[in-house]
Amino acid sequence: MHMKCPCGSMQSLNMCCEPFILNKTRPKTAEQLMRSRFTAYSLKKIDYIHQTTQGKALEDFDMTSALYSMNNCQWTSLTILNTLLGMEFDETGFVEFIASYISDGLEYTLHERSEFANIDGHWTYIDGEQYTA
Ligand SMILES: [Zn+2]
Repeated sequence: MHMKCPCGSMQSLNMCCEPFILNKTRPKTAEQLMRSRFTAYSLKKIDYIHQTTQGKALEDFDMTSALYSMNNCQWTSLTILNTLLGMEFDETGFVEFIASYISDGLEYTLHERSEFANIDGHWTYIDGEQYTA
């Protein structure tokens, strides 16, 4: 009996995002990285988030506030709305998604278009543009 992956793929965690988070293998697409980062947030794996962040997103990354939000938000669902490029041999990729979370008993959604770069075969998160509802 295996836990379903939090990313909503309907696959079991150990067949989906977990091998990425445990650094057993690398995501081949920007969407796989996006999904595994969502799963890492929901499993509170801050190291994986940090390790897969570069560029502007890394400049903006603050470990203390990332840990705070990780510990105070319960991520409940991920919906991928759109992807652009981000395939194995692309250099950049974009993923637009809606992520839902509960904080202090209230449900919130985060609507973001994330930008990813394929750096030497490793997809990394470099920037994100959030939409306000
Ligand atoms: Zn997954």
